[in-house]
Amino acid sequence: YGKVKGGNRVIEYNNQMSEKYNEILLLESDIRKAFQYNEFTLSYQPKVDVHTNEIVGVEALIRWEHGKKGMIPPSTFIPIAEEIGMIEKIGEWVLREACSQFVKWQSSGLKPVIVAVNVSAVELQQSEFLKRVKKIIKETGMDPNYLEIEITENSIMQNTEECIDRMNQLREMGISLSIDDFGTGYSSMGYLQKFPINYLKIDKSFIKELFSQSGSAEIIKAMIQLGHTFGLKVVAEGVEGEQILSFIQNQDCDYYQGYFYSKPVEPELIKEKLLAYS
Ligand code: C2E
Ligand code: MG
Ligand code: MG
Ligand code: MG
Repeated sequence: YGKVKGGNRVIEYNNQMSEKYNEILLLESDIRKAFQYNEFTLSYQPKVDVHTNEIVGVEALIRWEHGKKGMIPPSTFIPIAEEIGMIEKIGEWVLREACSQFVKWQSSGLKPVIVAVNVSAVELQQSEFLKRVKKIIKETGMDPNYLEIEITENSIMQNTEECIDRMNQLREMGISLSIDDFGTGYSSMGYLQKFPINYLKIDKSFIKELFSQSGSAEIIKAMIQLGHTFGLKVVAEGVEGEQILSFIQNQDCDYYQGYFYSKPVEPELIKEKLLAYS
């Protein structure tokens, strides 16, 4: 009897594995179709000066409105796209779209603000990445001084020297760099000194816990000080309320993003917000 049970367990396990595999295969063809059917769009979330409340930049965030399944969040499909070798194509599309958007905003007379794009660890690890960025900047007429690239700590922990070299080249082109989700990765503080970065983005998990988790306030304070010690500007992500905003104001954090100011929105709405300053 026990053997039969054991046998079933093996079969179940295999079924689960093939289910997972089927799901990935399905998404692979769906991701390809998403390009055909123009199902990807970019939303933009303002990055705001903590002290003046002015918009200093916008972060491009990909959205996938799947024909049958509705909205699929990037946290679901980006890791799959990385696995199946589709992230390069997505990353290229995102960068081109964001740069074109900047140029359109510029030609309608808006005050220029920095446009930030998230780049996956997989992309940053590829030597063709730089060429791709250069090509897109040239094709779109983007001013690289208004382009920011967001990367996570973990994406630089492999082949670190090579990544630093690549990052330096991006900086030489005028592009600025951020460490995204700071505090959730595995890098040591020493690396902050080595990475040619401009901004630290404190992960929203710390911000969310500010008033509920003891020690969170101290961690946030320490991260802001750490960033400033290394000459970086510090961004708080996930600011949802006024109390949190006044806390980071008092801690002299530089910029923030979050639902309190605005959710990620379509480009037309960003244009309206930017018009207020132009
Ligand atoms: P991220 O780069 O750290 O982006 C911030 C995420 O927090 C976004 O989720 C944003 O919608 C959300 N957010 C902003 N303000 C608040 C707030 O006040 N409260 C809460 N609870 N959430 C807030 P989203 O758009 O679902 O993106 C999730 C992650 O997916 C991003 O994290 C980024 O790592 C990745 N991602 C998004 N777009 C792209 C892309 O174009 N390329 C790549 N490689 N990754 C992307
Ligand atoms: Mg980001
Ligand atoms: Mg983040
Ligand atoms: Mg994130």
